[in-house]
Amino acid sequence: MARKFSIAAMAMELMESLLVRKPATVMYPIERLAPPDRFRGRMRYDPDSCTLCGLCQRDCPADVIKVVRKRVEREDGKKETVGHVEFEMDRCVFCGQCAYSCNSGSITFTKDFELAQPQRQLFMMKGEAEEVDDDACDADTEVVP
Ligand code: SF4
Ligand code: SF4
Repeated sequence: MARKFSIAAMAMELMESLLVRKPATVMYPIERLAPPDRFRGRMRYDPDSCTLCGLCQRDCPADVIKVVRKRVEREDGKKETVGHVEFEMDRCVFCGQCAYSCNSGSITFTKDFELAQPQRQLFMMKGEAEEVDDDACDADTEVVP
């Protein structure tokens, strides 16, 4: 009898807590929670500040980034590096290492988390970097042909 009573009391307690407690979930997508401050959502690449140094490619653990660059000689004889950076974002694990490694602040993350796409091709990102001074490139970093 005592056991029955305790189960009934527990059930009552549970019912009360369910009625009083705020739900842990929200009616997404009608209602949306704000991501926390340090949340890493959609990546943003700024080609204007990128020096094509290749550090992001070197440090990415998921092999997402490919820095493509070549050295060209201008008419005045000065050497410059031109190129672009490619991102295969379907493999990205949003670890943030590329942004941490980039000395130019060219990679940042927004709070946009709705990243689903119907085709893999839509995850490919490419940014043409500005022509950069040859000295800005790390000579030890592999140049992807
Ligand atoms: S680490 Fe930064 S500056 Fe260097 S190639 Fe990557 S995005 Fe560009
Ligand atoms: S966030 Fe991590 S996995 Fe994604 S591109 Fe940057 S280094 Fe690679």
